[in-house]
Amino acid sequence: MRIKKLPDSLINKIAAGEVVERPASVLKELVENSLDAQADRIEIRIEKGGKRLIEVKDNGTGIHPDDILKAVNRYTTSKISCIEDIYSIESYGFRGEALSSISSVSVFSIISRQADFPLGKELIIEGGSFKHLSDTGAPVGTAVRVRNLFFNLPARERFLKSEKTELKHIIDFFLRYAIYHNEIYFRLNVDGKDMYILNPSEREERIKDLFPKAEQILKFSAEDRTGKVYGYILPDIRSGKGYIYINGRPVKNSILSKIIRSKTGEGFYMLFLELPPYLVDFNVHPAKIDVRFRKEKPVYELIKKAVEDSEKPGIYFSLSQQKKKYNREFKILGQIENTFLVVYYDGEVYFIDQHVASERINYELLMKKYKTQGISSIKIPKQKIKLSATQIESLGNVKELLVRAGFEFYIEDGNMHITGIPQNAENRDIKGVINRIINSDYPETEIETFIGELACDISIEAGDILSDEEVKNLLKVWLETDNPNLCPHGRPIYYKIPVENIKKKVGRR
Ligand code: ADP
Ligand code: MG
Repeated sequence: MRIKKLPDSLINKIAAGEVVERPASVLKELVENSLDAQADRIEIRIEKGGKRLIEVKDNGTGIHPDDILKAVNRYTTSKISCIEDIYSIESYGFRGEALSSISSVSVFSIISRQADFPLGKELIIEGGSFKHLSDTGAPVGTAVRVRNLFFNLPARERFLKSEKTELKHIIDFFLRYAIYHNEIYFRLNVDGKDMYILNPSEREERIKDLFPKAEQILKFSAEDRTGKVYGYILPDIRSGKGYIYINGRPVKNSILSKIIRSKTGEGFYMLFLELPPYLVDFNVHPAKIDVRFRKEKPVYELIKKAVEDSEKPGIYFSLSQQKKKYNREFKILGQIENTFLVVYYDGEVYFIDQHVASERINYELLMKKYKTQGISSIKIPKQKIKLSATQIESLGNVKELLVRAGFEFYIEDGNMHITGIPQNAENRDIKGVINRIINSDYPETEIETFIGELACDISIEAGDILSDEEVKNLLKVWLETDNPNLCPHGRPIYYKIPVENIKKKVGRR
């Protein structure tokens, strides 16, 4: 074949592959445009997992009537004009690709009016071909309707998942934005039913509106020369998910999530990072989800610090004033199924998972030792690990940490000879652990994970029968731990029922 220039319609379809992966990515682009247009009311309608309809209506600035055609052209944007702008960009969009891509792979309509004009414009594009443009009466703002996504790309359409799955992705994106933009009214209507109606509120209130089942919100924050970080953990929303925002942009970054996961376990987390724009490069990916830092280490350190010093949540035992009337002495009611300790305290009945509570205690004990005099070692028959030159170098950096974690070793002829291991680690795959630590980008986190595993091994198990004395001791030590709410893997340690609820259930005032 000879070389030829591709027609724009084809270029748009190819580009659409990058920007528009699925209905949720359309929603993301449209909501971002509304936010960029300073809207404070955003209404979304979804039909059939977004395959049939994705509609986003806002009350933002609208588009100038003479610009409406430009909005759907490729590389047309009102948001930047020179390359320097992208280093300090505050808007979500700037590549001018979204509307052109979306309108080339759907039946697309946009109605927009600016406040200075009595009428707005309506534009319809089908699969990238112009269909219709006219004046129209419309409220100030913009409404975009995307119907039949990928109708002209059957191969892409077939790649979409079930409506249910696509809807899940949509809700995921919706939540990301709704959490961050608590000052904005959002409405999400799915197949004719309102799923969320969110009035403007404080961030914490918004989180409670979105997760009514969460009983606890744990907060953390830190600030240093690099920037500011704060966030929330919902330990009982055990979705294994978390959202990271950098300067208001939802992003993904596997190292950041690993650092925070090592503290939150399965609980749902939200992490908000504020960094000077020059430190962050959002332009890595067309959908701007991935992010790169110009200096990584200080950012990681900042986050580690925040989650480490996170607000000691207390156990909510002593929080509320009005509960004073209740007896604040522990009353041990018993053990059920040799697994849960049942305890009354301050107006509430607690069901405490004995294994998890014990694991929390052991983890903190071991971590304390690790951070101070070191975890005790036991001798083992010598084990040899062959190391590459780079591995020897990495080992140099974590040598001291390994020693404090209870490992004894020396290096000879490019080999690591292990002569001692942490007490109680006899059943662990020691070579595997060491390799994991040396090869990790974040060895310290890896060591802490290992310490968590050790804590788990030596803890009281579900099924162990405990005497009253043992229960009392366990509870006492557990309450003194830094985080009595979560096990090192992030499992909640207890479930509690307020006596008030019991009263309500049986109709006692
Ligand atoms: P980008 O957001 O990268 O600029 P888009 O293709 O998403 O590119 O949008 C192109 C242009 O259309 C935007 O720069 C903006 O000027 C205009 N636009 C799109 N959506 C809206 C909206 N909801 N309100 C006001 N203007 C909009
Ligand atoms: Mg955009």
